[in-house]
Amino acid sequence: MIPLRTLPDRPVAVFGLGKSGLATAAALLQSGTPVWAWDDDESVRARAAAMGARLVELYGCDWSRPTALVLSPGVPHTHPAPHPVVTAARAHGVEIIGDVELFARALRDGTLPQAAVIGVTGTNGKSTTTALIGHVLQTARRAAIAGGNLGTPVLSFDPLPENGIYVLELSSYQLELTTSLACRAAVLLNVTPDHLGRHGGIDGYVAAKTRIFANQDRSDTAIVGIDDAHSRAVRDALIAAGKQRVVAVSTGIRIPGGVHALDGKLIDDTDGTNRLVLDLAEAPALPGVHNWQNAAAAYAACRAVGLAPEEIAHGLRSYPGLAHRQELVATLNGVRYINDSKATNADATAKALACYEPIYWIVGGRPKETGLEGLEGFYPRIARAFLIGEAEEAFARALDGKVPTTRCGTLAAAVAAAHEAAQRERREGAVVLLSPACASFDQFANFEERGDAFRRLVQALSPGSGAAGVRRAAS
Ligand code: ADP
Repeated sequence: MIPLRTLPDRPVAVFGLGKSGLATAAALLQSGTPVWAWDDDESVRARAAAMGARLVELYGCDWSRPTALVLSPGVPHTHPAPHPVVTAARAHGVEIIGDVELFARALRDGTLPQAAVIGVTGTNGKSTTTALIGHVLQTARRAAIAGGNLGTPVLSFDPLPENGIYVLELSSYQLELTTSLACRAAVLLNVTPDHLGRHGGIDGYVAAKTRIFANQDRSDTAIVGIDDAHSRAVRDALIAAGKQRVVAVSTGIRIPGGVHALDGKLIDDTDGTNRLVLDLAEAPALPGVHNWQNAAAAYAACRAVGLAPEEIAHGLRSYPGLAHRQELVATLNGVRYINDSKATNADATAKALACYEPIYWIVGGRPKETGLEGLEGFYPRIARAFLIGEAEEAFARALDGKVPTTRCGTLAAAVAAAHEAAQRERREGAVVLLSPACASFDQFANFEERGDAFRRLVQALSPGSGAAGVRRAAS
């Protein structure tokens, strides 16, 4: 747990007791700071109380006491309207921060041994890039830990020794609640319109993301993916301001001094040598152009903290991948079974469909407004679509006459049907792909549960745990 220095006799209020809120309460309490905790959900309040936090109804408390309000990143503090707890704290001049800000202060005030921070933000690819950087650093035997928005909340980290490297995934919400974090290397992967309601439009969203570069100086590096217009504008502004070194990352064009992944070849021109570092075909857990962007950005970040190109290439090759993101679950008789449950909209599904052919595609759940928009170009790759969930009716209509479909209702029925078809046909390169382009909430608690269910169903088909299943279905 991260040690914190605060005023011991004054409480810190913590609102929102999810994973990061509870970690915040725990770190504060361990450091001897009284905690006033609240959440609208009674069951999580009990967990904070069990830890030793005082449950205080923050909607109407004495705001002259707390020194700060630590807000869960899920709680709106500006747009569409500030939460009432935020309004109350603000009216009393109480500062409003997030867990990452407490961490940044522990680094700054010397409570933690001196260490570097690599921050990662962007609309898509944050978790992958964060985990990838963590893996590369650890493979190169650096003292490093990765987390934040992904996995372990930052205040639950075990402190690293002197010169360690913290790799933090930072969402736009977290960045809005962070003022003093200084990143040795800060990555902005990409910007596409998302969460605009929470940021008051695209400008607010870009401004939140750009905060990752605040507090950088000449010894620090800004790494910017320039494959979209918003990120290109951010890069131009950073170069114009001239505060830090700026490295551009692209999967489409060569930029002098940048890192490129063109046709899957990772090329480093940061020292002007334009050297080929790695053919990303050698990194099996990083398929597709989107992952080339993640790999190139991770490469640039690791270079910025002193790793050699060969060390990074080694780590990229051995990266195992994250669960639920084009995760290879099993290969049966040459057919690959892939869990891409994290793809909860058509944009994310497009990334996976671009990687395989022929595809036995399990799709559906609670549909998004955009439905299957933008996926038409991939239909020729699809052998058959297996439809599930609330989207079944609408997707059957949308695919009618374009892609053969089977209406399956449940994930279990879809896995059985897709497996049967793929094994009967045994086509070269075939994949059974769960990439639902939908939210999971009609049938599962979240995308993780949906992906776990898929994995279990597939593992029950695999020779180790259910050879009979494979033979039966294939006969
Ligand atoms: P995040 O943490 O930003 O949500 P993830 O690494 O969890 O991102 O990836 C989520 C999904 O987003 C992936 O399954 C993939 O479909 C898509 N994705 C990943 N990286 C990128 C990228 N660099 N650009 C566009 N889409 C991406």
